[in-house]
Amino acid sequence: MRRLRKTKIIATLGPASSDPDSIEALHLAGADVFRLNFSHGDHKDHEERVAAIRKLEGDVGRPIGILADLQGPKIRIGTFKNGSTMLTNGAKFRLDLDETPGDEKRVSLPHPAVLESLDEGSILLLDDGKLKLMVVNVGKDFVDCEVAVGGKISDRKGVNIPNALVRMSPLTDKDRRDLDFALSLGVDWVALSFVQRPEDIAEVKKIVAGRAAVMAKIEKPAAVEALEGIIDLSDAIMVARGDLGVEMPIQEVPSIQKRIITQAREAGKPVVVATQMLESMIASPVPTRAEVTDVANAIYDGTDAVMLSAESAAGEFPLEAVTMMSDIAEVTERDPLYRSVIDAKHGHLEATTADAISAAASQVAHTIGAAAIVTYTTSGSTALRAARERGETSVLVLTPSLKTARMLALVWGLHCVHTSDAENFADMVNKACRKSFAEGFTRPGDRVVIMAGVPFGTPGSTNILRIAWVGEQ
Ligand code: PGA
Ligand code: MN
Repeated sequence: MRRLRKTKIIATLGPASSDPDSIEALHLAGADVFRLNFSHGDHKDHEERVAAIRKLEGDVGRPIGILADLQGPKIRIGTFKNGSTMLTNGAKFRLDLDETPGDEKRVSLPHPAVLESLDEGSILLLDDGKLKLMVVNVGKDFVDCEVAVGGKISDRKGVNIPNALVRMSPLTDKDRRDLDFALSLGVDWVALSFVQRPEDIAEVKKIVAGRAAVMAKIEKPAAVEALEGIIDLSDAIMVARGDLGVEMPIQEVPSIQKRIITQAREAGKPVVVATQMLESMIASPVPTRAEVTDVANAIYDGTDAVMLSAESAAGEFPLEAVTMMSDIAEVTERDPLYRSVIDAKHGHLEATTADAISAAASQVAHTIGAAAIVTYTTSGSTALRAARERGETSVLVLTPSLKTARMLALVWGLHCVHTSDAENFADMVNKACRKSFAEGFTRPGDRVVIMAGVPFGTPGSTNILRIAWVGEQ
């Protein structure tokens, strides 16, 4: 199955989309990577989702990425008796440590350190800033608030306290348990929430120890300031616009998004744009013009992937949302202006063989009108440099590592195939032609540009560029 776009789609799984049939439908409609949101659901839910994805992978014969998103030191309220409640402007509302389900009068805020850091006059923002509470009275183990901006509030919604300093480690005890569990399930990516410093990433990488790739979610002012160091240590970056737009002035989100994408592209690290991309599709089968334009703009910026959260996890139209995202990507990438916009931000080449060969392959393919670039990779590092080119020719990645194929499912323009390594020069050419034909990228008479490394099977040895004709298959 060949996608007709380079930008990848991440779909979050949740109650609206977790049975095997739904997961299959979402994948066929365009989801390249599935996100398990450890802020919701229990371990059994996630385990079943992973099993369904891995089974589907076998059925469709395509590697599918799985991203485990750790909640991080996010402050959340507890649950309500009826799953949700309405808060009206001017009403009184208590936050306490009592874990019994709440109602319109109170709900738990199960973070003693947070309650302690609140004073009279402190502002709390709920559900991505949609609701606003002001503390009017501080008691022992509770605070009483006045509802400044009311609305509907449901179970475990997030709380941001823009002006209070809360001392919390980058991994909570829950994160450590979730991380262990996610790694035992064999997820390909781990995302860390509320990263503040490069050291936070280093700490997680030490625990992960190469078993998965690590993504830093940029959603705190501190992370924006330390961006370069965080990109350096991370395997990928997420523009986590939900919390970012609450923690920072919301009007700064567009420029921060562009800065993060520019710097991640320059570093050759995959970047994901997340949150509210098609928000209205939670309840409507068609998005707003503004949302469609937002998705398209992220694609014009050259993001590797766009992400759906509640749209696919809890909305009424998960399938329509994935289909819409895929359609927007296809149409945007066909725009003649897209190429010049993407090329304007082409990264500087590093003085490495991988960059020299990647840039040359892209140029050669363009010059001769090759149908595909085929690259052999084991660790995935050469494929990442090839993707960094953002070239117009499709890139087929042949790798003996299923783990690498799954990890690269997130990356712009890479179509990965799990196959044995080339044994010799003739095998390298034959396999490239055979696979590119079988995957629908070439027809007899087309040319392909092949990147590989001799000696074969030696990681990091990319040093060959070969042009080949695809013969009768
Ligand atoms: P979340 O992260 O959905 O886990 O909060 C994304 C964001 O904040 O945008
Ligand atoms: Mn967030």
